[in-house]
Amino acid sequence: MAKILKTNCPFTLTEYRALIKLAKKRFPFVSYTDYNNYDKFVIWRHDVEYCTTEMNKLAEINTEEGIKSTFFVQLHCNYYNFWDKANVKIFKSWVEKGHDIGLHFDCGFHGENVFEKIEELIGYEKNILENALETKVQSFAYHNPVPEALRRQDNYAGLINAYNKDLFKSDVMYVSDSNGRWRERTIRDVLEDENIKKAQINTHDTWWVDDRIPQIEKLEKALRKAAEDMITFYKENAKIVVKDII
Ligand SMILES: [Zn+2]
Repeated sequence: MAKILKTNCPFTLTEYRALIKLAKKRFPFVSYTDYNNYDKFVIWRHDVEYCTTEMNKLAEINTEEGIKSTFFVQLHCNYYNFWDKANVKIFKSWVEKGHDIGLHFDCGFHGENVFEKIEELIGYEKNILENALETKVQSFAYHNPVPEALRRQDNYAGLINAYNKDLFKSDVMYVSDSNGRWRERTIRDVLEDENIKKAQINTHDTWWVDDRIPQIEKLEKALRKAAEDMITFYKENAKIVVKDII
């Protein structure tokens, strides 16, 4: 039995909602297109990494709490298929609820020379995302950013880079729950710090669950559920499930 680590910011959905309530008291929630108009703000962001239904749990809380956030969606994900009908439906539901869609751009997919044609590649993926989800895409964030990506802080193809000079290594505090663990500071630390006037908060799917189970078990559970759903889909749609030929 893994021990439950004491933290001021447990990875539970209850805590997730509490963080939004706390942020609402302190900051206006702004988007990547209007942060320039504010001296004090929070940008609430999500990188969709593993499981869209897990991310949808956070999206529903966002909507219930009346906040707007940006969901960075991958086109080349190892864990979910962007084009899957159920996933497209979920992405579109976020748009309908007033959230923004951004491009979660994976340099690794495009290989070593990606930065030679970065503008073109981001523009190409932006168009796919906009056409598929019938919405305007105005920002992008690197997936697993390599140092070279973080050095290049420019905006590309008309999209605002979530790691641009204004927003990263600037007076905007960036905090992320990447891999379901905290590094220097938790989101609660940042939201409770009166000295912080601007923040970009990045929360990912799958880590926020009310069972206090080890991080890897959360991922295993989410991926097993997705696989089981596929098997159920096959059995229900294939009409023939052959059991007597091996
Ligand atoms: Zn990512």
